[in-house]
Amino acid sequence: MEEFVITEDFPRDQLEFDRRFKDEGACIDYLFKLRWPDGYSCSRCGSTSSWASARGLYVCKRCEYHQSVTAGTIFHATRKPLTMWFKAMWWFSTRKSGVNAVNLQQLLGLGSYKTAWQWLQKLRSCTVLTGRAKLSGAIEADEFYLGGECSGKRGRGAGHKCAVAVAVERKGKKLGRLRMEVIERCNADELIPFIENNVSSGSRVSTDGWGGYSSLSSKGYEHKQVIKSKSDEQDSVLPGVHLVISLFKRVILGTFQGRFDKKYLQRYLDEYVFRFNRRTTKTVGKRFWRIAQFAVVTPPWQGAAST
Ligand SMILES: [Zn+2]
Repeated sequence: MEEFVITEDFPRDQLEFDRRFKDEGACIDYLFKLRWPDGYSCSRCGSTSSWASARGLYVCKRCEYHQSVTAGTIFHATRKPLTMWFKAMWWFSTRKSGVNAVNLQQLLGLGSYKTAWQWLQKLRSCTVLTGRAKLSGAIEADEFYLGGECSGKRGRGAGHKCAVAVAVERKGKKLGRLRMEVIERCNADELIPFIENNVSSGSRVSTDGWGGYSSLSSKGYEHKQVIKSKSDEQDSVLPGVHLVISLFKRVILGTFQGRFDKKYLQRYLDEYVFRFNRRTTKTVGKRFWRIAQFAVVTPPWQGAAST
């Protein structure tokens, strides 16, 4: 989806957002341009002439097929106004540490917590680019456990916890792009495919001494094992990836108050990675535009009722 080259069109700040998206028509126009950047075309007969009826419904002049600008998107069959959805996208994409379902319910005045929760799940499903470029250059990789009481010992007593693999680019003293993925367990069968799926071969991958990574050099990577000596300060080795892990844990503890659905942990990771990889974006509205772009090409979330 990176080849999605269309004119950048987004509100630069809250004021512009509020001015622009105050009614359904404005939201429908915006979605229309994202969905049909080259103009309307009937998905049944291909005709490009249509007339617009109410609520974003377009009727093909040739075959009379009715097509809604929201059909097949995350807004599919929604019973709520699009202005509300736009506000949700705005808050979701522009808040530094995200919003939780209680926040969103209050911000939008939604009657039900469940609706807010499902909306957030749908928005999270719009945070992953398919076909995104793999990380490259100098990489730090590690894993961590989330949930449960005891501090994580790999392989032992970790059954009730979720394991997460992490890789981040090092650009001198700065960090580049990030990837995070839920894994079954912290062994080579899980860690090596994670690296192969997310890091270009030939990259220099630094890890700790854990045996799960020991075959990296035979997979086309320049593998550097950083072994912590007893005198080393905590986090003095692999500081980049450890920083990212502690920031993520802070979001889980802060925004989500330590509560998250283990079943959906990958979505929380996706949301975090989306925000992290766009942390230097100067105009917050650009993140909103990204989410809206994905929203019109992301199918409705399976398993969710119409909200
Ligand atoms: Zn048609």
